[in-house]
Amino acid sequence: MTRPVYVSTRGQAEQLGFGDALLTGLATDGGLYCPVEFPPLPDISTDTDYRDAAVAIMAPYVAGTFDVAELETMVGLAYDSFRHRDVCPVVELGGAHHLLDLSQGPTLAFKDVALQLVGRMLDAELSRRGRRATILGATSGDTGSAAIEALAGLETVDVVILHPAGRVSDVQRRQMTTVDAANVHNIAVRGTFDDCQDLVKAAFNDRKLREAVSLGAVNSINWARVMAQIVYYVTSARAVRPDGGPVSFSVPTGNFGNVLAGWYAKQMGLLVNTLIVASNRNDVLTRFFEGRTLEIHQVEPSLSPSMDIQVSSNFERLLWETSGRDGAKVADLLGELRSTNRAEVPAGWCRLIDEAFVAYRLSDEETLQEIKRTHSELGLILDPHTAIGVGAARQYAHALGDNGPPGSRYCGEPVITLATADAAKFPDAVEAALGQRPELPEHLADLFDRQENYDEIDNDLAIVADRLHALRTGS
Ligand SMILES: *Cc1c(COP(=O)(O)O)cnc(C)c1O
Repeated sequence: MTRPVYVSTRGQAEQLGFGDALLTGLATDGGLYCPVEFPPLPDISTDTDYRDAAVAIMAPYVAGTFDVAELETMVGLAYDSFRHRDVCPVVELGGAHHLLDLSQGPTLAFKDVALQLVGRMLDAELSRRGRRATILGATSGDTGSAAIEALAGLETVDVVILHPAGRVSDVQRRQMTTVDAANVHNIAVRGTFDDCQDLVKAAFNDRKLREAVSLGAVNSINWARVMAQIVYYVTSARAVRPDGGPVSFSVPTGNFGNVLAGWYAKQMGLLVNTLIVASNRNDVLTRFFEGRTLEIHQVEPSLSPSMDIQVSSNFERLLWETSGRDGAKVADLLGELRSTNRAEVPAGWCRLIDEAFVAYRLSDEETLQEIKRTHSELGLILDPHTAIGVGAARQYAHALGDNGPPGSRYCGEPVITLATADAAKFPDAVEAALGQRPELPEHLADLFDRQENYDEIDNDLAIVADRLHALRTGS
């Protein structure tokens, strides 16, 4: 297998192989690493086991770093931690609408699908190089616990997770702060998720700090996370269309990492008609699709906290592709966005984006209505993020006419909504909709009796840098 090459979206950083891209996280020019080539889609049918599909799809992306046997071992261990034997099962919602359940992992959100694997990859690659890294992550609620679950207790890493103080659900916070492992460090930042993500990026852009503490990333700025998410787009498409015909996906979106994996699946040759970007009131992407301008507003808390994001990092990867891979132009546009909170996207780029994506938003009220409606019609309890995906899929089918007007993109093809979390992670939102609180699964039943351990700090890079240095020197 040829060795894949990864390049930065801002065109200035050196090209890397998979192992270095995995360990580097953010590129040294502030950009995100992307594959130069998309390998063709392997032959996957309805009968292919999820693990086998995962190995076949990812092997070309990791070649030169992990051979197929190593990949098989890591994939096997990663997905043995899932409660359902199909790993990411597909459930019918009625008509042409399906739900892809990504909540079967240990922390009950889709972040486990990638992080259970990426954690093992980081450990293997660091061990091989005889290195130790400080993994710094920002979380809007679910990445943190999934990263901690994947990395707690490992010899090769310290894990430092920043979450926005008071802006994650109690279950989400406790899933992070009750893990008792010497290499896990939780910090609540007085600010928003965007502030946390900016702190992480600022730490990476501080070359001295980055080298001194050997920083690594578990946010979806790390290519390996996006890569691992490509797999379930392929397996679910095959599950609902054994003939290989086209499908569409509705994806509850925050940082654009999940829905971007669907776009990569399409570049590999999966027949994807439309990718539906589903937002809550923090609707920077929906407004972009309406007005062609990226405009950052203040983040407002919503019932779906994991999507309370205005700066969707991974949109940069899509902009880079649609710019014809022009790193200088991408750097200019993102520089403008950073300094003025506003940037217009050239019409040519938008045309390419329009070929693949549409966007809808749901208010908190509409989110509650969707939870109620799905519960009364199907007896299913959706988490608020998934409810936004289901509602957006409904708006999509409705806007285009359920049978599809002539010439429209919607051909009555199946729509698969990605169920990104289990309702038990968001009991307050579910109670507001249904008057009942979903129960936590057995392995988390005593979550509220466990001891929490975390610090709260101001939104200040100097404080974070001090903490990181202190970990390295053991003080
Ligand atoms: C992280 C998360 C999202 C958003 O995913 P992105 O990859 O950031 O777009 C949606 N729903 C849940 C439950 C999440 O944890």
